[in-house]
Amino acid sequence: MGYNIAIDGPAGAGKSTIAKMVAKQLNFIYVDTGAMYRAIALYMIKNGIGKDEELIAKNVKNANVKIAYVDGEQQVLLNEENVSGCIRTEEVGNMASFVAKVGEVRAQLLDLQRALAASENVIMDGRDIGTHVLPNADKKIYLTASVEERAQRRYKELCEKGEKCVLEEIEKDIMARDEQDMNREIAPLKKAEDAILLDSSDMTIDQVVERIIQIYKEN
Ligand code: C5P
Repeated sequence: MGYNIAIDGPAGAGKSTIAKMVAKQLNFIYVDTGAMYRAIALYMIKNGIGKDEELIAKNVKNANVKIAYVDGEQQVLLNEENVSGCIRTEEVGNMASFVAKVGEVRAQLLDLQRALAASENVIMDGRDIGTHVLPNADKKIYLTASVEERAQRRYKELCEKGEKCVLEEIEKDIMARDEQDMNREIAPLKKAEDAILLDSSDMTIDQVVERIIQIYKEN
């Protein structure tokens, strides 16, 4: 059985940046479960399946998602094709939040996520890791930040990439995603009772990483 650290929290809280850095320091494997939902969303977009829960449930079996690691970086394979480079768009993110409501989608990914955690020391991030995927994780963190701060961070990131964006729209998108992720019926985003709450609004990335390493070292 591997040592498991679960990190959950809303969109834009910095989970993946931080989890990657912690994984490097601890020599753990970083598992980004959002990327798995994004791969299924991409499949639905590519195949012209819209925001229709029944159709998504019917078709999800044809979307075979696998995870591989190249130079320590997680790669997502969709029907054996590496799609890691095309899942980071707002369109795919929004569709991911929609497909994530569908029970058949969640059930299909659950086995893959649990199998990874069973065999390796992992730090796994997502929305339901501490509450559903790994309820017995050794350490659980709920990482959040204010909506304004998360929108600012995302805005800066997109500007640095040279993408055109409007701060107010990003903020609206983040609120819509929070609303959808926190209020769905199956495995909604919420802090596990035994998770440690970290609000990163006024913390640097390094401070958050350091705090998680400290939590790891505590008994
Ligand atoms: O974290 P990321 O933005 O890549 O996740 C995309 C979407 O996938 C989230 O908005 C959420 O709806 C869904 N998700 C989930 N459960 C997870 C990870 C992601 O429902 N464990």
